[in-house]
Amino acid sequence: MSETPSKVVRSDAEWRTLLTQEQYQVLRQKGTERPFTGALTQNHATGNYHCAACGSLLFQSDAKFDSGCGWPSFTIPADSTAVEEHEDKTFGMRRVEVTCARCGGHLGHVFPDGPGPNGLRYCINSASLQFERAK
Ligand code: FE
Repeated sequence: MSETPSKVVRSDAEWRTLLTQEQYQVLRQKGTERPFTGALTQNHATGNYHCAACGSLLFQSDAKFDSGCGWPSFTIPADSTAVEEHEDKTFGMRRVEVTCARCGGHLGHVFPDGPGPNGLRYCINSASLQFERAK
C-alpha cells in the first residue's frame, strides 16, 4: 500500500513552458500521438515509466506487452493509486480515459481486451511517459 500521491497543480501557461509541444498536446489537451510513431512503443528495456509531466511512477516494464496497437501497452499500473480512470464519450465512442493521479495529465485509454489476469490493456501515449532504465 502506498499513499495517494500529493497533487501537482500548475497553470496552463506553466505547463506550456515545462512541456514540449507534443507533450503539451497529449498531456494537457488530451491529444493522441499517431500510432507506431511514439518513442517507447517498441521499447523492451527493463525499467520504470514515469509521467513526463510530473515524474510520478506510472508503469513498469514487467507489465508492458506487445499489443500491436501502435502505442505502449501495459496490463496494470505500477500502483493502483498512480492513475485515475474517467468515462470518455468523445469522438462517438465510449472509452475509459487514463490520467496521472498526481498531475491530472492525460495518458491514454484502458480497454478490456488485455492478456493479463485482469484482462486490461492500458494503451498509453509515449509522449506522456518518461522511461527510466533499470540500473
Ligand atoms: Fe503526472
